[in-house]
Amino acid sequence: MRYLVLSLLCASMLATSAQAAPKVVTTIVPLHSLVSSVMDGVGTPELLMQGQNSEHNASFTPQQIADMAHADAVFIIGNNLETKLGEISGTETVGGKAFIKMNEIQGLITHAIREGGTWEPDGDEPPSTGVSADPHIWLDPENAKLMVKTIATTLDKADPANAKLYDANATKALAELDRLEADLKTQLTPVQHKPFIVFHDAYQYFEHRFGVTAVGSISNFSATPPSAQRLEEIHNKINSSNATCVFREPQFTDAAVVTVIEGTKAKSSVLDPIGADLKPGPDAYSELLHEIAKNLSDCLS
Ligand SMILES: [Zn+2]
Repeated sequence: MRYLVLSLLCASMLATSAQAAPKVVTTIVPLHSLVSSVMDGVGTPELLMQGQNSEHNASFTPQQIADMAHADAVFIIGNNLETKLGEISGTETVGGKAFIKMNEIQGLITHAIREGGTWEPDGDEPPSTGVSADPHIWLDPENAKLMVKTIATTLDKADPANAKLYDANATKALAELDRLEADLKTQLTPVQHKPFIVFHDAYQYFEHRFGVTAVGSISNFSATPPSAQRLEEIHNKINSSNATCVFREPQFTDAAVVTVIEGTKAKSSVLDPIGADLKPGPDAYSELLHEIAKNLSDCLS
């Protein structure tokens, strides 16, 4: 009997050590998707920001903060994207553990926040800064590739036993991102110079990569309702730029969009920068970009 207990104990210890996956926590669906690709076959990261919330004001529960403090790695976008995270736990660490911030990756492509004219300024930031970087870095697949490399390097160190698998997964993910980028370039070429209006200014990285032409935004990052004067400016912009589409986001009602397109020739459609309706997992990143490309090309063609 004693041998049986001992051997069962040994077997269960072996099984535990072979199956132990690192505990990894991430914030938004697209970042979670890239981390999931790298961890494929090892484990599943925890997703903190999911569903019908603006990426700029999603809040975090005490349980989520505790999960981050006990994780082996916590990947966030940074750049004040996860604003509530900063309020609760500080922007540098959680429970003494450093966040791994995607916005600090060496060589990352960044664009300054657009302000003035038909670009609604960010309501949470002093408008005079001008030079702060637009946080929607994931919408350029070239940045996603750098993020995949950083995720793999981080996990290699946190969990050396699975390093070969992380590296192989990263290589596969990088090839898929190259294919995605090439497909979207082909798909979007015919609508490159057709002007459109977005709900909030989230698509700058996508625009630069694929040569599409947003000419204004309706709401600021905190998604507060636009003023009457603001709606008037956007209305005039639609007419003067011949913008054919105004895109709302799935999180928000289209009341503001209906107001700005009234009496113009513009149609309304939907763009979603964070994948509010997507099933989280390795495929969500590519689904997100395909969905943006499809909605743009359908409405602008
Ligand atoms: Zn945003």
